[in-house]
Amino acid sequence: MQEILKNKLSIESSRPGRRGIRFAAADKHAADYLPATLLRKTAPNLPELAEFDTVRHFTKLSQQNYSLDAEFYPLGSCTMKYNPKAYDVLSVLPGFASAHPFAPESAVQGTLELAYNLQELLKKITGLAAFTLQPAAGAHGELTGILTARAYHDANGGQNRTEVIVPDTAHGTNPATANMAGYHVVNIKSAPNGCVDKAALKAALSEKTAVVMLTVPNTVGLFEPDIKEIADMVHAVGALLYMDGANFNALIGLAKPADFGVDIMHLNLHKTFAAPHGGGGPGSGPVGAAKHVAPYLPHPIVSHKDGQYTLVDNRPESHNRMKAFYGNMAVVIRGYCYLRQFDAQTLKTIAENAILNANYVRVCLKGKFNAFFDRTCMHECVLTPPDPHTTGVHTSDIAKRLLDYGFYAPTIYFPLIVPEALMVEPTETENKDMLDAFVSAMEQIYNEIQSEPQTVKDAPHNQPVKRIDEVSAARNPNLRWQ
Ligand SMILES: *Cc1c(COP(=O)(O)O)cnc(C)c1O
Repeated sequence: MQEILKNKLSIESSRPGRRGIRFAAADKHAADYLPATLLRKTAPNLPELAEFDTVRHFTKLSQQNYSLDAEFYPLGSCTMKYNPKAYDVLSVLPGFASAHPFAPESAVQGTLELAYNLQELLKKITGLAAFTLQPAAGAHGELTGILTARAYHDANGGQNRTEVIVPDTAHGTNPATANMAGYHVVNIKSAPNGCVDKAALKAALSEKTAVVMLTVPNTVGLFEPDIKEIADMVHAVGALLYMDGANFNALIGLAKPADFGVDIMHLNLHKTFAAPHGGGGPGSGPVGAAKHVAPYLPHPIVSHKDGQYTLVDNRPESHNRMKAFYGNMAVVIRGYCYLRQFDAQTLKTIAENAILNANYVRVCLKGKFNAFFDRTCMHECVLTPPDPHTTGVHTSDIAKRLLDYGFYAPTIYFPLIVPEALMVEPTETENKDMLDAFVSAMEQIYNEIQSEPQTVKDAPHNQPVKRIDEVSAARNPNLRWQ
């Protein structure tokens, strides 16, 4: 049965002479429109299929894909969760989607009003003084934030500040961003509890420090309990505290970063705020700043005066613009819908459920797949496989075996400070039944590791594609149909 199914899928279905739709007049007309030199002498070598076969082909392909609409997607740090279809419809309303980027402000008042209102809502949930919606991704938000910090220092006698301090639990984009902005990156190791080592931070801080970049929660899914004290240490040397808030669903409604001393931060709308992170975009990484830094955010910013919404370019201290026009509107619209759908109490529940679900998985799997830092985590837990050196079964094998059980693999081998990491982010949207099913699958894999490790090492067994050579697939992609 399995074999027949597999063969059916892999059979090459092109047959000479099979046709989908035939436009009788097409051949005749091509010569009317194109110069002879551009006309093909021979037909292109394309698959030949009936319309019906084509529909079936693409439908089958789509069914081989994992998707959030069909499966659980515990991809840590990428937050694949509630992405309401209704927001998709709203984000392509003609008034938004058909607006020309050069349309005069008077013609796009609705779009500007929505952007302005989202800026205001983001200010409310973070406590910060101003937001720009320009950045097109989280990493782009970081670059925007670090350039904002530089503009601040340049204007405040801090031209000699050349260093950005980044703990080893930061997202990988943090050191990359600081480097790209021209700063010297100073890495500090974490304390044994997975959080910032305050002694190491103190030793690294100096009058050369421009910014300390903290990922909160950090990449091992932990909140920095001493964040306020850390902020005070940073400010004492005249530096700014940058918070990478890409995973804000762990904090939304629970804590405002401005309250614990954050000067600049970015959010990923395409994680927390109802747009998926996977799939290559588009994204949106709004950047917020505290009052003393706000004037240095890039221009334009949407402002509201006398009933009119305008894009304010006249901001003399600002560090120029980061993107053509004003952000990825379709993602901005989804983020706005999200914040309008839920009141403050519900937003708090969202964070609480994200935290509860991650801890539920962590505790259920204790003794089998232990958390690297065995503490209460935030929205994700970072697990490790049982003794991979003795069993010979590694994280990549477990990830492949999960596919056989119908689960998308968690993020693996990240964060780098955790050997053989399995980073599970259930998100607040999954119910207990789904979490229990995932835990059972992990428990069965644990049993297989003990009794039949080869089964796990040879996984996946029931997927259309087995293990691929990921390096060759990336470097020499074979995208031809034949
Ligand atoms: C996803 C993520 C980023 C980067 O966001 P992109 O939109 O992929 O550039 C940065 N920091 C953290 C903590 C993240 O989880």
